[in-house]
Amino acid sequence: MSDIVARARALADDLLFPAAGAVDAAGEVPGAHLDALADAGLYGLTGPVSAGGLAADRATVHGVVEALAGGDLSTTFVWLQHLLAPGMIAEAPEPLRGGFLADLCAGRVRSGIALLAATRPGPPAITARREGDVFVLDGGVPWVTGWAHVDVVLVAARDAADVVHFLLVDAVAGDGLDVVPQQLVAVQASSTVGLRLTGHAVPVSRLVRSVPLDRWQAGDPAGLRLNGSLALGLTARCARLAELPSLDADLADVRAQLDAAGPDGLPDARAAAAALAHRATGLLAVATGSRSVSRGHPVERLAREALFLLVFGSRPAIRTALLHRLGG
Ligand SMILES: Cc1cc2nc3c(=O)[nH]c(=O)nc-3n(C[C@H](O)[C@H](O)[C@H](O)COP(=O)(O)OP(=O)(O)OC[C@H]3O[C@@H](n4cnc5c(N)ncnc54)[C@H](O)[C@@H]3O)c2cc1C
Repeated sequence: MSDIVARARALADDLLFPAAGAVDAAGEVPGAHLDALADAGLYGLTGPVSAGGLAADRATVHGVVEALAGGDLSTTFVWLQHLLAPGMIAEAPEPLRGGFLADLCAGRVRSGIALLAATRPGPPAITARREGDVFVLDGGVPWVTGWAHVDVVLVAARDAADVVHFLLVDAVAGDGLDVVPQQLVAVQASSTVGLRLTGHAVPVSRLVRSVPLDRWQAGDPAGLRLNGSLALGLTARCARLAELPSLDADLADVRAQLDAAGPDGLPDARAAAAALAHRATGLLAVATGSRSVSRGHPVERLAREALFLLVFGSRPAIRTALLHRLGG
């Protein structure tokens, strides 16, 4: 295990898991927990060393996400949204790169994402039109996680020629930017909001990258591995609590399937991971007994989180594979 993964495991076991029930009940991730991740360098996990990042390889990133998800899914989920920005800003033009990269890697500036306009076909969720030195954004997305904890949001918006523009938008309500808190039965503490943009102007200097929609979508399946680590982390926590060796073996199998899968195999591997987390919480509940269903018991929280992982970060191919695995 790399030093970085070991650091994440220690944070998960010593800080996040002991507090996860209280975080869930309060419906709010403590800022101190995210500060602890930043202090451990984890906001810079995917950023370049030259800007203070850890430039971790894929296996390390997956290991860190799995370790943290086994501590507290809400905290991990907020932090996870940040990971895309440092990598993309590292390849952005100046002055954006110099203005943001080191702060993103240190966690002094924290980012969310709103990617629906890049991932879903059909009419764009958010449109962009260029007017002089600004992009004007209109539309909305139902899910932006971490709103109370981010300074900027990486927003995907599409123009009339189906080019996706990724813009670093200030996470400040007003001037045609509004948010509505989502009410969730799991990860409510993740501060997830619906975002609406009405003629919201973003300076062209905040343009991170422009990519034709078909090119972005062609690369999408290759990026599906990461969210599978959330389900692995939840399963690992269940395996430790239930002390069921068969669950450890299944966990190792599904992790290996995710690691070996190429873009064509990832939807099924993601479905396997989500289905395993769902089954693991069921096993843990049975092994624990009736107190599992007492409000506030760790098992009922983990079961609600497994429900969330059945649908989060899905794609049509994952959904089909998961329906099949669950007997649908
Ligand atoms: C609690 C929560 C928090 C979230 N936070 C964020 C966030 O911070 N940032 C963010 O960007 N997203 C976020 N998401 C969005 C999430 O990743 C997407 O909702 C998910 O990937 C799409 O699955 P869906 O079932 O919601 O489908 P929907 O987005 O509701 O899509 C509806 C239908 O459109 C079609 N469709 C969707 N995507 C595709 C595709 N790629 N190719 C072909 N057809 C498609 C399918 O037929 C699908 O059933 C969050 C979701 C949840 C539940």
